[in-house]
Amino acid sequence: MARKSISNKTVKSIVERDGSANCTYCRRFGASRLFTGSKGKGAWLWIEHEIDHVIPLSRGGTDELPNLVITCRNCNRRKNNKLGWVYGT
Ligand SMILES: [Zn+2]
Repeated sequence: MARKSISNKTVKSIVERDGSANCTYCRRFGASRLFTGSKGKGAWLWIEHEIDHVIPLSRGGTDELPNLVITCRNCNRRKNNKLGWVYGT
């Protein structure tokens, strides 16, 4: 699936909105992998977790913040282009 890369700034906004960097679906913890650096001047690294479009772009979703959530690689693969995917299904 082709996708536009989402900026570190957007990732940071999502983490701040949700209050954590855990996977939205399975709650797997990912924050420790996200932020490197100190004194608030680190760089955001995206290694383990990914950004999922709640409504897939192929179904009319957007790259706007309300449509974006954090997901681990595993959940993102399994959700793929499904709408309303529930973890474990
Ligand atoms: Zn997950």
